[in-house]
Amino acid sequence: SSHDKERLASWIKGAKSMVVLTGAGISTESGIPDFRSKNGLYQKQNAFYRSILENEYDRFYGFCKDLFGKYGDSQPNAAHEIMAKWEDESYVSAVITQNIDGLHQKAGSRNVLELHGTMNRASCMDCGKPAPARDFYEKIGCQYCGGRLRPDIVLFGDQLPEDILKRSFQYCQEADLVLVIGSSLIVSPACDLPFHSRGKKVLINKDEVDKKNMFDLLLYGSAGDILKDVDNFIE
Ligand code: NAD
Ligand code: ZN
Repeated sequence: SSHDKERLASWIKGAKSMVVLTGAGISTESGIPDFRSKNGLYQKQNAFYRSILENEYDRFYGFCKDLFGKYGDSQPNAAHEIMAKWEDESYVSAVITQNIDGLHQKAGSRNVLELHGTMNRASCMDCGKPAPARDFYEKIGCQYCGGRLRPDIVLFGDQLPEDILKRSFQYCQEADLVLVIGSSLIVSPACDLPFHSRGKKVLINKDEVDKKNMFDLLLYGSAGDILKDVDNFIE
């Protein structure tokens, strides 16, 4: 309701440190399907597994190439843009994202912690050196050792980047307001991050989530629409 949006706006204005945690739901309005909704990517044969990368490289490659071809040119939507604006206005201290699409940076957010990596960078499976993402999608070998490349996304079976996870926990611990946008909060450890804050927790999401009772405020609907309204209450 509009009362709840106004309430969130006043919390944002009063917060000393607001941290935002985003999931696939913030990018659906940019045309990228999420994971677990009806038409989500999970429903198609999801190949984001370390075992598939290692044992069925061609299948893994085909899956990535297909996704990159479909969604590589996606543009940020109003929700990403408002996060960048709120960072400029010193309301947002960090955006922690589970997404691999790079849309927060495209919208202008600077302090983005990519928990699950990004489809816009790659590295060599043999020597570990970084490589242009383009080389992976064009199936060019590592320029140092000729090894096969992989995108720098965290696959099921991969470790999360330790430093980014640590910093994410720190941000949440220090935050007095955590805003979760577009996540089912099922994937661990990302789903636990908000609850390391002793401050207020707010969820903006289309569907209900299992952890809904752990929030101080729930706003159901389109992230872009809700955030536009909240932003108007801030001015
Ligand atoms: P999820 O698919 O499990 O949940 C997405 C949630 O967003 C759902 O609960 C849905 O109700 C909600 N949602 C969908 N559209 C919305 C909208 N317009 N406004 C508000 N809410 C909306 O996603 P998750 O929790 O992020 O977990 C999925 C995993 O898959 C993540 O780890 C992520 O790395 C990966 N993934 C990333 C992308 C991407 O980079 N864009 C896309 C799909 C999956
Ligand atoms: Zn190499």
